[in-house]
Amino acid sequence: MPFPRIVPLVGCLAAFVLGCSAAGSQAPPARVDGPVDDRARAVLERDATRLVEFRRDLHRHPETSGNEARTARAVSDELRRLGLTEIRSNVGGFGVVAIVRGRRPGPTIAYRADMDAVASTAPDPVDFRSVNAGVRHICGHDIHTTIGVALAGIFQSLRDSLVGNVMFVFQPAEERATGANAMLAAGVFTADRPAAVYGLHTAPYEAGLLGTTPGPMMGGRDRFTVSLTGSGDLSAATNLALQALQQAGTVPPDLAFTNQPIDFIAMSLAPPQVAAGQATITGTVTVAASASRARVQALVTTGLAALVPAGVSVSGTYQAKWIAGVTNDTGLTTRATAAIRARLGAETVRAVTGIVPAFSEDFGSFQGVVPGAFYFLGVSNSSRGWVGMPHAPEYVADEAAIAVGARAMAAVILDRLSTR
Ligand SMILES: [Zn+2]
Repeated sequence: MPFPRIVPLVGCLAAFVLGCSAAGSQAPPARVDGPVDDRARAVLERDATRLVEFRRDLHRHPETSGNEARTARAVSDELRRLGLTEIRSNVGGFGVVAIVRGRRPGPTIAYRADMDAVASTAPDPVDFRSVNAGVRHICGHDIHTTIGVALAGIFQSLRDSLVGNVMFVFQPAEERATGANAMLAAGVFTADRPAAVYGLHTAPYEAGLLGTTPGPMMGGRDRFTVSLTGSGDLSAATNLALQALQQAGTVPPDLAFTNQPIDFIAMSLAPPQVAAGQATITGTVTVAASASRARVQALVTTGLAALVPAGVSVSGTYQAKWIAGVTNDTGLTTRATAAIRARLGAETVRAVTGIVPAFSEDFGSFQGVVPGAFYFLGVSNSSRGWVGMPHAPEYVADEAAIAVGARAMAAVILDRLSTR
C-alpha cells in the first residue's frame, strides 16, 4: 500500500503536545521560576521546534552500528550548545556520555539512548528521507537520541535546583548488540555510578502512550556450541542432539513476531558442521525467563551427553545473555510508572503482557550493572496511517512522541532527584 507523505510538523509539535506557540525556538532562556514540573515543560516548549529539526537531521543522516561518527558529533555539538560542559566522546566506539551536576550532591540517574540505524533499501515515506543509500532510521533511534537531547536541555536548565546528577548515555551499535557492553568495558559507569538507568524504545502503540512491565520485558539471546567426537555413530548422535535441541524450543519461527508467554524458548539451529571424527552444532536461543534459560543451558552443557550412543562424547559451551534483553527492576518500574502517570495521566502507561521473541535489546547489559527500567514509547498515528513498527520498511514515527518521551523520562528522573 502507498504510504502517506509526512507534512512538515515543525512548529506543530509544540502546539499539539504542549499547547504552546512554536515561535522563537532559537534557545532563548526558558522561564525557570515556578514549580519544577512547569519549569521542565517550559524548557521543552522552548526547544520543541529545534528538537524536531535535530531529529530530522539525524533521520537524513542515518549511520549503521559502529559508524555513528556524524551522529555522535551532532549529539556532542547540541549538548555543548545547550551549555553542558562534561561531555565524553568515543566511549566504547562512538558513544557519548554527558553529565549534568546538580548544585548539591546526590544520586546519579542515567538515561540511555541508542543512536544507530538499520540497513534498508525500501523507500522512506517521509519528506526528510535518508541521504545515505541503504541506511534508514526504521528503529526510531533518532527519536530516542532526540529525547536524550531534550532531557539534557531540561536538566541543564534545572541544575541549580537539583540534588544529584543526571547522566546521558548515547550508545552506539545497539543493532549489533555490542554497544552497551563496549561502553561498560570503556568505563561508562566507573567515575559516576548511576543509582538507576532508564530508557525507551519506539513501539507501534499510538503516540501519547507508553508501555512497560516489571521483570522480563524483552527476550535475551544466548548462543551455544555443541561438539561431538568419538569412534561411535557420530551421525546418529548428531541427529539425536539436534532433535533434542529442536524439541526444547516452544516457538516455531513463524510465530517469533507474535506475543508469547514469558516462559517461551525460541531455538534457532545452524546446519551441523561435520568433519573427520567431529561434528559441531551451533545455535542461538531467545529466552526471557531465567528458568527457561537454565533449562536450555542444562540441556546443552550436560543433558545431551546422556542422550547420545556409546562411543560418542559430547561437550557443550553456553554463553548466556549474548544479547542481554530487558529485565526491569520491579521497584524502579513501579515507582517510575507512578511518576509518569502522575504527570502525564493515569491512562498513559499500558501494561505490557507477553513478549515478542523476534525483538531484543542490549539495554539489559546496563541493567546487569545497575538497576533499570525500560519503556516502549508509542509512535504510531492511526489517523494519518503512520505505523512505528521497528524495522518494518514502512516505519514512520509521529514526532509528537518526542515530547511525550521527554516528559515521561523527565518525570521519572525528577522523581528520583530531590529539588528545592
Ligand atoms: Zn531499536
